[in-house]
Amino acid sequence: MTIRLRTIRDVRTFSVAVTAVVILSSMALQQLLIPFDIATQIRWPGMLISFIIAAPVSFFIGLRMLEIHRLNTHLEQTVKHDLLTGLLNRHAFMDHIEEEQRLPGAIIMADIDHFKLFNDTYGHAAGDAALKQVARTFLSLCRVDDLVARYGGEEFIVFLADTNLEDGVKVAERLRARLARKPLVHNGRAIQISGSFGVAVLDHPDHADEAMARADAALYAAKHQGRNCVKAEASADIA
Ligand code: GH3
Ligand code: MG
Ligand code: MG
Repeated sequence: MTIRLRTIRDVRTFSVAVTAVVILSSMALQQLLIPFDIATQIRWPGMLISFIIAAPVSFFIGLRMLEIHRLNTHLEQTVKHDLLTGLLNRHAFMDHIEEEQRLPGAIIMADIDHFKLFNDTYGHAAGDAALKQVARTFLSLCRVDDLVARYGGEEFIVFLADTNLEDGVKVAERLRARLARKPLVHNGRAIQISGSFGVAVLDHPDHADEAMARADAALYAAKHQGRNCVKAEASADIA
């Protein structure tokens, strides 16, 4: 049995429960080990001593358990998420996708266009701000249970559950159009951002690698076509 203390209220409940168990146990022990008349005489002082020791000690232990829980939560958050954008990272995305049951689903791979030039022209801080804006834009256009991750560098990956290729391409086109329409405002300057997109369908959790490779190939084709466009894994390109 694992006891998890998530709030200070849990700590208080834990402390009360432990203190009660200690007091009841000490009373039971008194009855068993000490002659009845003496046990009756020392019952109240015994209970008081048990309370004075057990209450603060259990409260202190509870606080430490709460701290460990918070550290664990923070660690889990850090391990699964990208620090800059707050999106899922690649490993967390892969873990989710390999257990995904809501299939078929669409995988969208996105890559910001000419981002090296963007950094070189406007600076790394502007580049970081652009990555954050792209992340916010993607999150705002996706459903809450879609997976949006930073795949690495200036590449993002999205999984749309229960979505076919055609609808996946429509969503990718929406993401592309929003990026292109909404410049980054940095240091009072409006800077244009665009992205290229590749879309593929995932039909079985065991085929995640292949589906991602097909989405990546479609993204490559979008770059080849001139960027700022969406390509599907088949020939059904949209923009
Ligand atoms: P393409 O249109 O073909 O994708 O060209 P690109 O310049 O976007 O691609 P390239 O792979 O040459 O450059 C990617 C750039 O992304 C280089 C790297 O400095 C930048 N980058 C990667 N991660 C970060 C980051 O966390 N912050 C910033 N500011 N830049 C990053
Ligand atoms: Mg790239
Ligand atoms: Mg790029």
